[in-house]
Amino acid sequence: MNSGPADNTDKHPDMIDPFGSSPHDHQQCQHRALVAAQQLCSNRGVRLTLLRRQVLELIWNSHTPVKAYHLLELLKQKHPNAAPTTVYRALSFLLDHELIHRLQSLNAFIGCGLPGTAHHGQFLICRVCGAAAELPDTDLRERIGRRADELGFRIEIETVEISGTCANCQQAAITSD
Ligand SMILES: [Zn+2]
Ligand SMILES: [Zn+2]
Ligand SMILES: [Zn+2]
Repeated sequence: MNSGPADNTDKHPDMIDPFGSSPHDHQQCQHRALVAAQQLCSNRGVRLTLLRRQVLELIWNSHTPVKAYHLLELLKQKHPNAAPTTVYRALSFLLDHELIHRLQSLNAFIGCGLPGTAHHGQFLICRVCGAAAELPDTDLRERIGRRADELGFRIEIETVEISGTCANCQQAAITSD
């Protein structure tokens, strides 16, 4: 077992195990994401408004992709008048600046651990607990791009989503037998 949550808080986001078999201090993830988002927005001269920030913070509540309607429910706790368009506008901003990714297979959103770096999301998604790990692999991306070029295929959405079972959930399945 891992020695505890304190020892991997400084790890690079893509070194963190989002599935929970080696626990980490998730508040650090959330905090780091919000700081990075603020930095990226000020570098680009765009505003991370309170609402955009709150939506991003809600998405970063966990490593589990979250659906828009669920975000709306959560947001309504702070803004009772929040409408679906409120959420969609904030999501659209966060997507434009690649602070979040949209997972097509789940129709849900997840925070990007590597904002501001050129990458397309590649994800391992646990179908049991719902958590997702981003694995930005530039080689894979280049290979996909090259093959698409060869075929004259125009890529529109380039998120790679791999469904399976995380180590934690595999273990849970064994012990519950
Ligand atoms: Zn985390
Ligand atoms: Zn990302
Ligand atoms: Zn799992």
